[in-house]
Amino acid sequence: MKTTANFLRKQTLDRVSSRCYDLIVIGGGVTGAGIALDAASRGMSVLLLEKADFASGTSSRSTKLIHGGLRYLKQLEFRLVWQVGRERAILHRLARHLVHPEKMLLPIVRGGSLGKFSTSLGVWVYDILAGVAPRDRRAMLSRSEALAAEPLLDAERVLGACLYAEYRTDDARLTLALVKTAMEQGADCINYLEASAFLYDEVGAIKGVRIKDHANPDTPVFEVEAKCVVNAAGPWADQVMEMDQPKKQKNLFLSKGVHLVVPYARLPLRQSAYFDMQDGRMAFAIPRNGTTYIGTTDTRYAESIDDVQALESDAAYLLEGTRRMFPSADLKRSDVVSSWAGLRPLIYEPNKPGSEISRKEEVFIADSGLISIAGGKLTGYRIMAKRVLDLVVQNLQKKAPGKYPPCKTQQIRLWGNSFGTWEAMQDFLRALEKRVTAVGLPLSRASYLLQNYGDQSGKVLEAMEPEASSDPETRLLLAELRYAIREESVVRPMDFLLRRTGRAYFEMSALAHVLPLVLTVFQQEWQWSAEQLVEEEALTHIALDKLSMRHA
Ligand code: FAD
Repeated sequence: MKTTANFLRKQTLDRVSSRCYDLIVIGGGVTGAGIALDAASRGMSVLLLEKADFASGTSSRSTKLIHGGLRYLKQLEFRLVWQVGRERAILHRLARHLVHPEKMLLPIVRGGSLGKFSTSLGVWVYDILAGVAPRDRRAMLSRSEALAAEPLLDAERVLGACLYAEYRTDDARLTLALVKTAMEQGADCINYLEASAFLYDEVGAIKGVRIKDHANPDTPVFEVEAKCVVNAAGPWADQVMEMDQPKKQKNLFLSKGVHLVVPYARLPLRQSAYFDMQDGRMAFAIPRNGTTYIGTTDTRYAESIDDVQALESDAAYLLEGTRRMFPSADLKRSDVVSSWAGLRPLIYEPNKPGSEISRKEEVFIADSGLISIAGGKLTGYRIMAKRVLDLVVQNLQKKAPGKYPPCKTQQIRLWGNSFGTWEAMQDFLRALEKRVTAVGLPLSRASYLLQNYGDQSGKVLEAMEPEASSDPETRLLLAELRYAIREESVVRPMDFLLRRTGRAYFEMSALAHVLPLVLTVFQQEWQWSAEQLVEEEALTHIALDKLSMRHA
């Protein structure tokens, strides 16, 4: 019998349902994945449950920066800047292929919120707090230097600029790298499994979770026991807490953040920029893979958490601010090729608007023993995981003192990074460039592969079958797809198109002609019936239309 993805998943589920775990983690975003890795590396048996795809919540919808948090300096959150700055350096070492240093331009303009002196001083303080190496510290640019660095700036308004150090990432791939590393450490991490209810013992303590399988609707609901359960459900954390204990007051304030993607040719920035918007807020414009993405908004959100979308008003706001800063590009609504909208799960603070609420995380412990964590940043996932695991260990060690070692994630390189040094990774990239061009792909695919698959990039290239009829790009896509279904828990087309490869954000225009091929591979691997194929095709089109804002 042919081994299908469907068959492999069923095998895993059989194993899971017969175990009692030390820890169940609810939520497969960056927070939950970080917690699963920390727990597994301390020797615990761990089950991570994700009700949709890994990173399908906020963790694929961020600005994709591992930042020291310059904006937190404005809010005088010195400790947060200090902490995330140090974390950033650790992440750069743990995930070299996914966390890249990059300069960011901060334009200083007439009528803007930044003055030359305050920016120079503020970013200097930021560099010190964030532990930026002396050679990478901020450089102040004169008016003519700023215009030379970024000719699209408004020559009428620009007074100068500041160039400072940021780090870029891919949030969904970072989450997946954490999931894969956690699995290497022994964790069971499964997507499309929803924690639908809690199981309690005779004194009201949680002793497990009831689980619903959304990938195999025929599978009955099943139950798994655990000594401890952590809720890392991001924007859904309140819902999970309410599943345990109905409450009147919510703990979270949800704030929506939208990004727009335009072709690079329409906003050809020479480097990323962080600039003043029309209302005094600031936004990023970041070139990536032949596009530039712009974001973000920050508006209170009270609608369905499961269907967050960019609206026309979000697009109008972002386009207006970008046009003000880069008027010669004259961006229009018709330039938008893709978009994403995510929810910041902020901790509710009475009488504060979303933009002023602290991004610090908070831990809540219920009478039932449920530990919930919310808030925080992508950048701080490791510290958040450590904080939660220290509590879990306290709980578990009441019965078995001294069983678990302290946190060691500072030393665990993430999946795909076996590069001892930055230079070793650059050597790998050069060799990859040769292989990529040898199979007829553009040079830029080498850095794309490196970011997505790190030291496993060769494995993906090797899977390119020499189908004479198709071009190298299609062969690469199919190779990635087969790899993703077998090795990266891909269940639905959007898992692959959006979260494993970023194509639905950054290569939207190329998707139409490959979609039928992608769906055919899915049908074979997942043994879809003809009806399922039609349904999945329709769902994929709806999702792509939403991203490209064609629904509006
Ligand atoms: P999520 O990623 O939302 O994960 C929660 C998961 O739980 C979801 O996948 C959901 O499906 C799952 N789930 C929910 N209920 C259940 C259940 N019952 N059973 C099983 N699974 C369940 N941070 C940075 O460091 N840098 C940035 O540049 C940055 N930019 C941002 C820009 C925007 C617009 C936004 C909104 C946030 C940004 N952040 C940034 C913050 C960062 O993205 C978030 O803090 C982080 O992604 C939150 O991750 P999470 O795992 O807590 O939540």
